[in-house]
Amino acid sequence: MKAPPNVHFVLVPLMAQGHMIPMLDIARLLAFRGVTVSYITTPLNAARIRPSFDSTALSGLPISLVELPFPSADVGLPEGCENVDELPSRDLRLNFYEATKLLLNPLIEYLRDHRTPPSCLITDSVLPWTREVARAFRMRRLIFHGFNCFSILCFYNLHKHNVLESVASESDRLVVPGLPHKVELRKDQLPSTQPKELRKEMREAEETADGVVINSFEELEFEYLKTYRETTGRKAWMIGPVSLSNKDDGDKNNRGKKASIDEKQCFDWLETKEPNSVVYVSFGSIGRLRPPQMEELGSALEGSGHHFIWVVKAGDALPKKFEEEPITERWMVIRGWAPQVVILSRREIGGFVTHCGWNSTIEGLCAGVPMVTWPLFGDQFLNEKLVVDVLRVGVSVGVESPSWWMGEEAGSGEVVGREVIGMALKGLMDGGDGGGERRERAREFGKLAGKAMEVGGSSYVNVTGVIEDVVKYKSVVSVE
Ligand code: UDP
Repeated sequence: MKAPPNVHFVLVPLMAQGHMIPMLDIARLLAFRGVTVSYITTPLNAARIRPSFDSTALSGLPISLVELPFPSADVGLPEGCENVDELPSRDLRLNFYEATKLLLNPLIEYLRDHRTPPSCLITDSVLPWTREVARAFRMRRLIFHGFNCFSILCFYNLHKHNVLESVASESDRLVVPGLPHKVELRKDQLPSTQPKELRKEMREAEETADGVVINSFEELEFEYLKTYRETTGRKAWMIGPVSLSNKDDGDKNNRGKKASIDEKQCFDWLETKEPNSVVYVSFGSIGRLRPPQMEELGSALEGSGHHFIWVVKAGDALPKKFEEEPITERWMVIRGWAPQVVILSRREIGGFVTHCGWNSTIEGLCAGVPMVTWPLFGDQFLNEKLVVDVLRVGVSVGVESPSWWMGEEAGSGEVVGREVIGMALKGLMDGGDGGGERRERAREFGKLAGKAMEVGGSSYVNVTGVIEDVVKYKSVVSVE
């Protein structure tokens, strides 16, 4: 289905890699259908994603990368701090959310000047102020959480039943009500990143929105989609896995940021390995492990006997051995930004050690690889439950408490020992103890993910559904 002319979607992601990347993929999916798309961001973020944006697949598509000024210094942020991964301390998160509100007027001005009036806003759930924009132009407003349907439903039910308030201690366990499966976790494993007031605004903005779009696919989470719709009465469209909108290697290699490694070197290294023999280890765009944990992980990876690619952040203190020899026949350390989607899709990759960010998790599912789940914070503990208990394609490393490390500050002192990590790696890569079935299930989800995105597949049809919904609304509004 090709969209009629004059359908204009405005996409406003939070400025964080895990939000900007899938939204750019959504922009691409819509533009492929002939929809005009304005992707809203700030100058430094635009510079980052320009390599993905300018790639061949995007050229000629009706997408504009819109740069609105972001006066970081005016709101107490360091000069040039335009992305969550640039924040020097966790406390400044609040300033950051506040600062995003400064985009409101420039965004309204941009849309006033645009020759195609906007028809639909797809906005990040943590930017509730965007409501004003939708109101000003009487357009459809859809929420994008960046989460899967399972987590969205968990958060909804936890709030509806006041579960958190009824649990006293942070380490007490709770059961999420109203789900098709029993999901139990510790209170402190649930995110508390946004202040109460913002959370309230987010909920209000969501309750009055016209629906949600989800980076997932029906074959993966159908029971949860059904329960979500029944529980909330809201419209929800699953349109993913959106990473599969990256068609060629040019798109994939620099997805989100320019890769820190020469792809050829990486692929030449992989080519010398057997299928399913390499473990890929990454903790996403902001997750970091503290030095003692890096030591344990390095030792476990080395002791596992498997080949591995280990992605670490620019400033991470690696164990000495890996610092001295980042690339050997056994391992490859990538310092900085890895071309994750393209690495995961290689047949040599046999397992993924992941922090369970939803993008990484669904990318692992697309690649059909089983995972070791190592959640750090946010929705990641819930994603672990989905992967290990519901989909049964993962082995938990057994982390109990959330941890984070930003600038000079760190939360949680829990260190997972090398033996424990070694056991999880064994479960991941070896066939015994259900490992073969886990791998088979993961492979099956990989196939289903690809089919969902093909012409006529469930997510393809749902993208059509989103566009049709907007077109229908547009015609109603214009005759009123
Ligand atoms: N990513 C990447 N290379 C890296 C680190 C991350 O391409 O070196 C991408 C990854 O493929 C995913 C996103 O960045 O699309 C990270 O999002 P996720 O939800 O997994 O975690 P977050 O970074 O938000 O914690």
